[in-house]
Amino acid sequence: MTERNLLMIPGPIEFEPSVLRALGEKTRGHLDPVFMKAFSRTIKRLREVFQAPGAQPFVVAGSGTLAMEMAVANLLQHGDRALVVNTGYFSDRIGAMCERHGASVTHVRAAPGSIPSLEEVEKALTGASFKVMTITHVDTSTAVLAPVRELTALGKKHGALVIVDGVCSVGGEALEMEAWGVDVAFTASQKALGAPPGLAVLLAGPKALAAWKARSKPVAAMYLDFAEWLPIHEAYEAEKPSYYATPAVNLITALDVSLGHLVEEGMAARVARHERIASEFHAAWKAMGLSHLPAENCRAHTLSALLYPSGVDATLVGKIAKQGVTVAGGLHPELKTKYFRVGHMGAVTMNDVSAVTAAIKRALG
Ligand code: PMP
Repeated sequence: MTERNLLMIPGPIEFEPSVLRALGEKTRGHLDPVFMKAFSRTIKRLREVFQAPGAQPFVVAGSGTLAMEMAVANLLQHGDRALVVNTGYFSDRIGAMCERHGASVTHVRAAPGSIPSLEEVEKALTGASFKVMTITHVDTSTAVLAPVRELTALGKKHGALVIVDGVCSVGGEALEMEAWGVDVAFTASQKALGAPPGLAVLLAGPKALAAWKARSKPVAAMYLDFAEWLPIHEAYEAEKPSYYATPAVNLITALDVSLGHLVEEGMAARVARHERIASEFHAAWKAMGLSHLPAENCRAHTLSALLYPSGVDATLVGKIAKQGVTVAGGLHPELKTKYFRVGHMGAVTMNDVSAVTAAIKRALG
């Protein structure tokens, strides 16, 4: 089996060779000055990537789901209310998590492939006092892009803390955490941040930290508690030795290299590149007669979700793999046999557009 398949799923993705070389370096001790410097730089670079100079980054071994649970566990307590702007599978997941952590949860749902209107969200916000509102920036199950800026403004207006699941957006879609008033945003290493899976990344703004400090009871799970992680992140940022739980040395070293590429490209230029590549893909889908699952007003730039044309079924994904490109099947429980997904984020290039569309054409043929 050739190792030259192009990995075009919505994470993990193709990584820059420099990132993979960093991953393969000799593992240093977690208190080695070279590693402390890399961790410190990672923390500072995350503030640039999330555009949140006043936020506290956390980088913890685990996946995006851990970052999601850290957000929920630190902000919510038994009896709090949470409003979930629900655009699919991952919105369901954060809603279920809020319930596990004792909150009473209201969902504002839209049909798969669409977003609830701002009016519906505002109506729900007016109906009760919500401690937290959650937004899935890009729901990876349906490629639906939510209007985070406008939704956050509504949440703020009604006094809710806003949590943004940016797992399929940060590093690819526009997100100005501080300017837009987002209180917590999280992602994972393996998507548009461009490093292998294994790191949960979360940024908490000042209001989120204040809400966590004002809790009446500590967070029950020690591994999730900001109280355990804050001192070590402050120490690492200052390049001072500190220990709570062994950091994922090689992954953080690789993430540091990848974030260096993001910062060098610049966030505005990076978002513009994702938009250019997405529109190139969209033009190719149109030329091939493929239709999108998400409605035109809410299509992500980090992936495409495409309906199988008539007479074609989910075996297409295997056929595309035989043509040298790995794409993903459907994920939304109601529709998963009806569509497939192509990730186009991170180090993606215009050459990938040609390779992917040619492979899909051959597979369809
Ligand atoms: N939220 C979104 C929007 C995601 O796309 C994913 C992963 N596909 C997750 C959360 C969960 O992340 P992980 O698989 O890294 O736990």
